[in-house]
Amino acid sequence: MELLFSAVSSVAVFILGACIGSFLNVVIYRIPAGVSLIYPPSRCPRCKQQLKKYDNVPVLGWLRLKGRCRFCRNPISVRYPLIEAATGILFVFVFWAFALPLPAIGYWAFLSWLLALSLIDLDTLTLPNSLTQSGLIAGLAFQAAVGWSEAGSSGVANHLMTGIVGAVIGVWMFDVITILGSIAFGQTAMGGGDAKLAAMMGAWLGWQNLLLAGFLACAIGAFVGGGAIALGLLNRRQPMPFGPFLALGAVISTFFGQAIISTYLRLFLPTAGMIFENLH
Ligand SMILES: [Zn+2]
Repeated sequence: MELLFSAVSSVAVFILGACIGSFLNVVIYRIPAGVSLIYPPSRCPRCKQQLKKYDNVPVLGWLRLKGRCRFCRNPISVRYPLIEAATGILFVFVFWAFALPLPAIGYWAFLSWLLALSLIDLDTLTLPNSLTQSGLIAGLAFQAAVGWSEAGSSGVANHLMTGIVGAVIGVWMFDVITILGSIAFGQTAMGGGDAKLAAMMGAWLGWQNLLLAGFLACAIGAFVGGGAIALGLLNRRQPMPFGPFLALGAVISTFFGQAIISTYLRLFLPTAGMIFENLH
């Protein structure tokens, strides 16, 4: 019975996530173009025909149309259903890892922001201010809500401080990454948007998980970038977006940050590890 309940609720969460993913597709497409998120309703990008309601159903709508527009038969990118499915899966992982309502809803929002920002960065090599700034404010609101649920107004002050310190350290961390990058690669391809993304991540994650996310972003970015250059997929002078790597680091930190940090400290810094454990 319990198993059935958790299966049904996981499916419900997946559907919720896929619907949010469908909205993220709109965000990813319209914010860089400077178009309203609400009006006009979803249209085929080729023939501008307004989509039927049932074609808008996440993932299934695309499958039913076999990836082609109902009106002009032009192909619709497989990216749309993939983003919907990926959002659904991430929502289920959050649902399994965090309790409802507060942490789960908060991390659903955080991962949605990260997903939209990553794909916009991949498409346009920019991270829109409207998204990084609203994400920073949402992160501080999340900290305040978590603090309130834990200890009322003193908890709010505590957690807001965590978020603000995280955001400030995010900007500093970004400066350090830029300097190290320019020493290692002789160029700085980082934009100001990356610093704002790091600040936003700090507000959500706090400084410990933020530093872990930054480290993971550099490690994965160097590995993927180096690999792409070695395979001839990327030119050394070609700019590579860093936002998706920061976001990936943030996702790993969200799920495994506490476990990674405490294991690391236990192995290499036993005393500091004990202090850290007692802090949590
Ligand atoms: Zn069409």
